Amino acid sequence: MRRCAARRPQWEVAGWYRLVVVRQVAPLNSGASSGSVPVASDLMSDTASPDPELFDKIVNLSKRRGFVFQSAEIYGGFRSTYDYGPLGVLLLRNVKDAWWRSMVQERHDVVGLDASILSPPQVWQASGHLANFSDPLVDCTNCNARHRLDKLDDPNVCPSCGATGSFTEAREFNLMFKTHAGPVTETAAEVYLRPETAQGMFINFANVLNTSRKKPPFGIAQIGKSFRNEITPGNFVFRTREFEQMEMEFFVPPAESQQWYEYWCQARMDWYLDLGMSPDKLMLRAHDEDELSHYSSGTSDVEYLFPWGWDELEGIANRGDFDLTQHANASGEKLDFFDQANNERYVPHVIEPAAGATRTAMAFLMDAYDEETVNDDTRTVLRLDPRLAPYKVAVLPLSKKDTLTPTALEVFDSIKGRWMTDYDETQSIGKRYARQDEVGTPYCVTIDFDTLEDRAVTVRERDSRAQERISLDQLEAYLAERLR
Ligand SMILES: [Zn+2]
Repeated sequence: MRRCAARRPQWEVAGWYRLVVVRQVAPLNSGASSGSVPVASDLMSDTASPDPELFDKIVNLSKRRGFVFQSAEIYGGFRSTYDYGPLGVLLLRNVKDAWWRSMVQERHDVVGLDASILSPPQVWQASGHLANFSDPLVDCTNCNARHRLDKLDDPNVCPSCGATGSFTEAREFNLMFKTHAGPVTETAAEVYLRPETAQGMFINFANVLNTSRKKPPFGIAQIGKSFRNEITPGNFVFRTREFEQMEMEFFVPPAESQQWYEYWCQARMDWYLDLGMSPDKLMLRAHDEDELSHYSSGTSDVEYLFPWGWDELEGIANRGDFDLTQHANASGEKLDFFDQANNERYVPHVIEPAAGATRTAMAFLMDAYDEETVNDDTRTVLRLDPRLAPYKVAVLPLSKKDTLTPTALEVFDSIKGRWMTDYDETQSIGKRYARQDEVGTPYCVTIDFDTLEDRAVTVRERDSRAQERISLDQLEAYLAERLR
């Protein structure tokens, strides 16, 4: 899980803990020191175990129904890179919107930011990424296979060919994507694609402080793409070289850092639970002493029980004053705060909840997936929270008859401005219900021939399959009560 910490005890990189942690069993004893924070033993049920079959089901559903496509598929596919289809883009957007609403909109003490993806080397020099954001690679001189040294079961045996003592010396492979700004390819024009969004918040600390009328404790939040040249991407959209993050840097007076760290651990766990994630598949795992970076006095991961085992959705770290101090020293700018009330100047400490948007969307998809037997048939249903469901409503005329279409379109037009609504008029109504269940649409509205007489529609609820006859003039209010 650590990136070769034994060989590189000086490992100090901002954000290494956000890299992938894969293991088969969860540590039951998390060792968390903070009393109010839910820890593994509180939240894990003894019965929770990974479901390996779920992985293929989700990959198949994603492709079949248009959540996720292999990138460049018509050219044979670009490995470990994915495109989000019509339903996937909605799910991903809903996850990000839910995060933004909780982290920015509903708070008076957090503001937003959208920093550039391209950045000059100075940023990554100061953050430590240029020196340390790397994996140790070895080459097998027998079969030419390349391996990550820290992932080998036996550092002397090549798992590809079985040769012993065939490895070259380890080389550090930096995970940042480097490119060139402008038409020249000289060293002077080198720039990097950001490997995390966090540095954008740190280098804009003074800008935000001076323009937003905020003072510590306050936060800067950002959602955006980041890029890491992972040597071993995998597990579908879980670990990809291009991915999306939801990060917030919360700047606090030094004396308050521990209480805010505990606060954010709790708040972030609550966010997943509030959106319906199964409590027995979610846990907060505090890092052991030897996992912590030297400047961090506490880091916890929010982990989900994926089909391959427990794995990280988010890291919450108490980062001290490391980041602002590094950038202040490197840039020569003052990155601190003058507290007039106490007449003291200090460098704020930082609490950082950093989540992966794409992997979180996949976790919600997996968590919502359910199969149940109905009348000897298997029904697949995504029991997504309505806030996350790609479509909130589907408008379905009973049959594709000219007589029904105008009324059905009238219904669609009456609700489309408020909710993302699907419209589908082909195939039997049973098949269309099944399709909507499979993509998690909470409500289906059916227009039948009676509708033309009584101006009422049938509303079917996804989870219970219960149907109610609702007057058209009551439809919006009926849905509004049920869709938050
Ligand atoms: Zn080999």
